[in-house]
Amino acid sequence: MKEKYRAPKGFQDIIPPDSLAWQHIDDCARGTFHRYGYDEIRIPVVEHTEIFSRSIGESTDIVEKEMYTFEDRAGRSLTLRPEGTAPMVRCYIQHGLHTESSPQKYYYSGPMFRYERPQKGRFRQFYQIGAEAFGIDDPYIDAEMMSMIRDFLYCVGLGSLTYEVNSIGCVKCRPDYKKALHDHVYSRIDRYCDDCKRRYETNIMRVLDCKVPGCVEASGDAPLIRDFLCEGCKEHFNSFRDYLGLMGVEHSVNPRIVRGLDYYTRTIFEITTTELGSQNAVVAGGRYDKLVEDLGGPPVPGVGFALGMERLAELISGKMSNKMPVPDLFIICMNEDARKAGVAVAHELRERGLRCETNYTYASLSKQVKRADKAGARYVFVIGTDEVQRGIVKFKRLSDAKEGEIALDDHESMIKIISDNGS
Ligand SMILES: [Zn+2]
Ligand SMILES: [Zn+2]
Repeated sequence: MKEKYRAPKGFQDIIPPDSLAWQHIDDCARGTFHRYGYDEIRIPVVEHTEIFSRSIGESTDIVEKEMYTFEDRAGRSLTLRPEGTAPMVRCYIQHGLHTESSPQKYYYSGPMFRYERPQKGRFRQFYQIGAEAFGIDDPYIDAEMMSMIRDFLYCVGLGSLTYEVNSIGCVKCRPDYKKALHDHVYSRIDRYCDDCKRRYETNIMRVLDCKVPGCVEASGDAPLIRDFLCEGCKEHFNSFRDYLGLMGVEHSVNPRIVRGLDYYTRTIFEITTTELGSQNAVVAGGRYDKLVEDLGGPPVPGVGFALGMERLAELISGKMSNKMPVPDLFIICMNEDARKAGVAVAHELRERGLRCETNYTYASLSKQVKRADKAGARYVFVIGTDEVQRGIVKFKRLSDAKEGEIALDDHESMIKIISDNGS
């Protein structure tokens, strides 16, 4: 196949039965988030570039080298969204949602775009589900959000999960910490990788989660933020953990998780699984008390998370292959007149929720039955010239060849027969 007729590098099709895993994840998200009082927001896939450069931070990998940025025909700089939080905040401000009295809790789901080197499980178009809760200072919401994620992951069917939390302080206490970390890193800068040397200038805390062995060693005795937290941050973190305990979310504190994005304050968390080898974070999130203001809105705190669907789908798709939907019945029409009679039957039964297949060519009956059997249909209905004249359909249960006749317009009996599993 010619290269240009294939999906572009880093972009993938999701076809059955894999798409079933994706649907399952979507269903779990919608159901779980609904129960926690979150409503859906659908945001566009493009935003003004500044939304991301202001929020994510100019000096992050995402903004520096991974964004799909282009000028539209009127010369505006637009960017395919590399993440969902900044657009959600933009939407929140634009529609004045902070004036709503109801809890401001929203979720989103959809594709994100980053020009990264494609590798196993990582794509340039990838899907995220995320949620944001606005206007709530109380650490109770941070914990409740993790409880919601726990319920969601349980619904999806994922095991071997580790919940890790940390606090990265606030505008009051973080500068002192960063200075201490700077001094520490500077004193042994030669031992760090090139990325970390760059981070030293731009995003110092990222050196703590660098996976290069030399860097891990060099930062082994680096100062930790927990020793620098102000009273407010300490209290927030302790209370957050107390609530996690009450909610039964087993977790550990990992002082080295820092998250890559500039906008986080206080609470951050990561949920990892050992089922995926080394690149193992499935969910990440945290609090962002200044972001709404940074993007031109009122001083409203927020907390949110995002999870990558590819990894979840990969983990569960093996369990989905035997879950392909099968037709409840297959209506075989032997000729055009029969089809005209069959149309109403199919329509009526579909309206009532049955998955109803039919034939699109007039092959021999035995061939059609074989096809129905192969599709996994439990029942076949057969309509031919004789049946049309008598105003009936013949039915047959494929599992035990039980047969019978029903009047063409007796949809009730059809449903009754199909609903009877014969067990
Ligand atoms: Zn603080
Ligand atoms: Zn490094």
